Amino acid sequence: MMAAAAAAGGKRCRRLDPALSRSVLGGAEAVLFDCDGVLWRGEAAVPGAAEALSRLEARAGKRLCYVTNNSSRTRQAYTEKLGRLGFPPAAARQVFGSAYCAARYLRQALPPGAAAYVLGGAALSAELRQAGVPHLGTGPPAASAAAACPEPLLAPAAWGARAPLDPDVRAVLVGYDEHFSYGKLCLALRYLLSGGDRDPDRCLLVGTNRDHRLPLEGGSAVPGTGCLVKAVETAAEREAFIIGKPSRYMFDCVVSEFDIDPARAIMVGDRLDTDILMGNTCGLTTILTLTGVSTLEEVKGHLESDCPARRNLVPDYYVDSIADLLPALED
Ligand SMILES: [Mg+2]
Repeated sequence: MMAAAAAAGGKRCRRLDPALSRSVLGGAEAVLFDCDGVLWRGEAAVPGAAEALSRLEARAGKRLCYVTNNSSRTRQAYTEKLGRLGFPPAAARQVFGSAYCAARYLRQALPPGAAAYVLGGAALSAELRQAGVPHLGTGPPAASAAAACPEPLLAPAAWGARAPLDPDVRAVLVGYDEHFSYGKLCLALRYLLSGGDRDPDRCLLVGTNRDHRLPLEGGSAVPGTGCLVKAVETAAEREAFIIGKPSRYMFDCVVSEFDIDPARAIMVGDRLDTDILMGNTCGLTTILTLTGVSTLEEVKGHLESDCPARRNLVPDYYVDSIADLLPALED
C-alpha cells in the first residue's frame, strides 16, 4: 500500500476525519464545489450540505465557488437553485458553469464581429448574449432551417447540406442540445470546413464538456454532451477545445475572477475523471465525496495501478458526504 501511495504522487485518498478536516480547511482560502452529486441530487439537497457551506463561509471565512460542467443552466439559474435549496446566498460571479465559461472563452478567442454556430439550448444562448457573442443555431432545427434556408420544406439532411452559411461564423460551439440532429451536424461540419485547405483553422471547434453519460437513479443513464462533441469531432477530423472539467480552462476562469492561489484552494467533487482530475492537474487539494458518481472501489483500482494517467485520478481525501465537514466547523 505504501508503494502504491508513493506512486500516486503522495495522494492516498485518506478519510477526512474531524481532526484532519480542521487542518485541511484551516490552510484553505477558497473551496470549489461541483454541484450535482455533491450539494444536491436532482432537486433534493444532500442532508447537512447547506449547513456545511453556511459555516464554511460565515464562520470559517472561506470563499465559496461553484464549478459545474452542466451547460443547460445559466449562472443565474444556479444562484436561484442554491437559494431554493437553502444554501448561502451566492452571487452570479461565484458560479462557473460550462455555458458561462464557453461564452467567456469565445469572447476572448473570436475576432471582433465574428459569430458562433451553436449546438445548444436557451442557457448557452443566454450566456453568449450576455457576453456579447453573436450566435445562431440554438433551438429546434426547424426554426433555424426556416430562417437560414430559402427552401424550408427540404428534408433536414438536405437543409443541413444546402442552407447558406453565415460568413461571420468563425466558431462551432457544442453544448447540451436536446434538438441535436443530422441536419445540425451537417451545418457544423460545413462551417468547420469553411476555411478550406488554405485556412483550416478559420473556424474554431469548442465543446462545453466531455461527460459522455449522466447517471439516473436505479443504475440507468442518459447520454451526455460528450457524445455530441464526439460526433462533431469525428465528422470534422479535429479535436475540440474543451471548456469544462477536467480542462484547466475552468479553473483559469475562477482564478481570473478571484485571484485564487491553487495551493490554498480545495476542490470538492463526486467524479474522479472530471472534478478530481481537474483539481489535481491544477495543484489544488482534492476531496472526493461519495454522494454521487464515483466510488472508493474505483479509487482503489487507480491507487493500485502503475499507469500515471490513472494515478492522477486519486484524490487527497474522501468523505461520505460534505456534511462530514460539520464537526470541524463548530465554534
Ligand atoms: Mg457531480
